[in-house]
Amino acid sequence: MAGLVERARDGQPRAVARLISLVENDSPVLREVAALLARGGGGAHRERVDGAAQVVGLTGSPGVGKSTSTNALVAALRAAGKRVGVLAVDPSSPFSGGALLGDRVRMQDHATDDGVFIRSMASRGQLGGLSAAVPQALRVLDAAGCDVVLVETVGVGQAEVEIASLADTTVLVVAPGFGDGIQAAKAGIIEIADVFVVNKADRDGADQVVRELRHMQSLGGRHSAAGAWRPPIVKTVAARGEGVDDVLAAIEKHRGWLAEHGELDRRRQARAAAEIEAITLGTVKLRFTSVHGSAALDDAAGRVVAGETDPYTAADELVAAL
Ligand code: GDP
Repeated sequence: MAGLVERARDGQPRAVARLISLVENDSPVLREVAALLARGGGGAHRERVDGAAQVVGLTGSPGVGKSTSTNALVAALRAAGKRVGVLAVDPSSPFSGGALLGDRVRMQDHATDDGVFIRSMASRGQLGGLSAAVPQALRVLDAAGCDVVLVETVGVGQAEVEIASLADTTVLVVAPGFGDGIQAAKAGIIEIADVFVVNKADRDGADQVVRELRHMQSLGGRHSAAGAWRPPIVKTVAARGEGVDDVLAAIEKHRGWLAEHGELDRRRQARAAAEIEAITLGTVKLRFTSVHGSAALDDAAGRVVAGETDPYTAADELVAAL
């Protein structure tokens, strides 16, 4: 494992891919890997300003142009000499190769570039689920020396909000004709977005989407407090690379704001806390199963049904036995 982690730190793509596979499959050696990764920060072969990869989340409904945008962002970041990681995460699917990943083919533009690491991850019932697996994968990409990691999630539901909240900067991509605004508002993603991208600006209705977003912003929320970050709305035609530099500029500006307000550290602290919580709860669940099996639960359920005890007392007994 030590050799593998060393090679990943050297930025060797196969070692990076191996480590992320270990994360995805919740391998028993993950503890050892995590301990090795925790020693010393990112890869040694570049100087990053604050010593850690910048994590940018991209989310939005299928079809709005996330993959196209990711691809264009990768190209722009590469042109600026940055090492880039891409994690495509599908929280809704337990399998790789779903709708999200069909479009991975386009990322082949960067397949032979050793400054780009691209991985997809699906939920495979890891200990702690994706809330634990994504931060682990981010740590691997960080160790491999990525300056920026783009975390792309499909959809605008609760799971996406959870994963998006792992990022330093969250970009919500919308497009005319998707009715995203309302869906995103419902899921609370409008609240956590730091940059809005209205893609497909070559289509009718883009300005209408911009107006809708402005209107939603004007309704308040955390962004309306004095001194708060006010998420910019950037129009793009990702398919032609138009506006992509503006998106990067908005991300940079947000990063500056985060650093200035001590938010960068706060977000990273929150990310680590969420990760530890996910691992802890996963561990407790595993322990519950190994200590009690299904028999104890059946027994307790029987006693509750028979009126011999109440569910709280029964639960207290099971917890006490852990
Ligand atoms: P994702 O599902 O959100 O990742 O969306 P994709 O990146 O796969 O894009 C969905 C479709 O929209 C593809 O056919 C793209 O070629 C197209 N598309 C992406 N960006 C633009 C754009 O700026 N304008 C137009 N007209 N089409 C776009």
